[in-house]
Amino acid sequence: MDYPDTQLFINGKWQDAAEGRTLPVVDPSTGREIGIVACAGIADLDRALAAAQTGFEVWRDTPAFERSKVMRSAAGLLRERQEAIASVITQEQGKPLAEAKVEVTLAAGIIEWFAEEGFRAYGRVVPSRDIRAQQLVVKDPVGPVAAFTPWNFPVNQVVRKLSAALTTGCSIIIKAPEETPAGPAALIQAFVDAGIPDGVIGLVFGIPAEISSYLIPHPVIKKVSFTGATSVGKQLAALAGKHMKRTTMELGGHAPFIIAEDANVELAVRIAGNSKFRNCGQVCISPTRFLVHESVSQEFTAGLVKHARELKVGNGAVEGVQMGPLANVRRLEAMTELTRDAVRHGATVAAGGVRIGEQGNFWAPTVLTDVPLQSKVFNEEPFGPMAVVHRYKTMEEAIKEANRLEYGLAGYAFTRSLRNAHLLSMRLEVGMLWVNQTSAPWPELPFGGVKDSGYGTEGGPEALDAYLNTRTVSIMNV
Ligand code: NAD
Repeated sequence: MDYPDTQLFINGKWQDAAEGRTLPVVDPSTGREIGIVACAGIADLDRALAAAQTGFEVWRDTPAFERSKVMRSAAGLLRERQEAIASVITQEQGKPLAEAKVEVTLAAGIIEWFAEEGFRAYGRVVPSRDIRAQQLVVKDPVGPVAAFTPWNFPVNQVVRKLSAALTTGCSIIIKAPEETPAGPAALIQAFVDAGIPDGVIGLVFGIPAEISSYLIPHPVIKKVSFTGATSVGKQLAALAGKHMKRTTMELGGHAPFIIAEDANVELAVRIAGNSKFRNCGQVCISPTRFLVHESVSQEFTAGLVKHARELKVGNGAVEGVQMGPLANVRRLEAMTELTRDAVRHGATVAAGGVRIGEQGNFWAPTVLTDVPLQSKVFNEEPFGPMAVVHRYKTMEEAIKEANRLEYGLAGYAFTRSLRNAHLLSMRLEVGMLWVNQTSAPWPELPFGGVKDSGYGTEGGPEALDAYLNTRTVSIMNV
């Protein structure tokens, strides 16, 4: 299937950038340019902002029931177009087609959940100290939102922000990733075909820093949501703070995966293998620091190494491929440097550790063992198909290591003991903990981190609160 070029979407129309600028889009499996994306300038952003303001005034006054209908219709269209959208995602991002299809299906499910939850953006009636007064707590949409999303899940990263904004009555300008623009464009097209009014959704691409530094301080924008690297999130949060804008920050992680001495090791191997190498490890909740009790370390490592060596790596569009290329050359360079550094610190390469071929960004599924805690990979988020294993003796030691970093997004633990599970649930400094299971970030559950992994949540009822103002209204009957 041909890969489409992507335009900006402003005030209900697809259009080129005013200055005609474009950026190339590259297939990470081949390194070849497959298309272009329009690159917005200030004039385009000004038009998007004006449209977001008028779109907000329309959408805010549209009943939740009508908003929900448009959202559910868009979700239905996504399901119908699953094959075509998945093919686009695989071409621009590299993940296997089967994973891309799951991304589209999950996106539809997220939209549907938010479409329902919009009916429950309740206020309150609070008993009054004066019988003549009626005291109300009302919730209404915060206003036009600026959202910034990354390339690892081209559609799904947009969907959580878009759904929360739309269901609460906000308009939104999305700065989607320039490296993977056609997936987000297909998502927005589904909303257009479902009847979203002009101006409610804007989609722009360009130079990320130029766009964020213009949109965040702009008086039209009332809320900022960002997903991406912690370093960038801190800059954007500081800028938003300077202009008193509300923010949701979904940042990096370095998830501990703790395997206790009483763990079901076979289960831990299966879940580690499947979740570590999904999307080539480019997932913010991907397990990364494997902390294994010394008594089960050999069994676990042997199982994970076997899994890594047997994975079929290749172009995600090819049937049977289980892991595609890294999404961009920057990740390839990062994998090379992290491996080199770990080996220099004394780690052993038990699987992978090398680039595959000369064309495309393929990196062999990697397992590094006996990795010292001072090595870079134990401190920086690898964001790639790299499992690093470290042995521990006591659970206290494992918890201390898990909490040592400033990251606090996801955590995993495997144990048959209620005592361990309870201790871990109390002590691990993570926003999401999965015990004896793979990650399950369903839309009805809060999704977000603590510490440097950000604040705010993109799931559960709390995700709506982030897009709502809470106001008090007291009416005296005189
Ligand atoms: P990067 O720091 O260049 O960019 C990360 C994301 O932030 C990209 O989507 C980029 O467009 C955006 N961005 C960068 N500067 C920006 C700015 N000034 N204003 C607005 N947006 C901006 O890194 P990268 O090479 O693209 O990705 C590497 C790192 O990013 C990874 O190691 C990982 O930590 C993080 N990342 C996290 C997620 C996630 O799901 N949390 C997704 C992708 C990348």
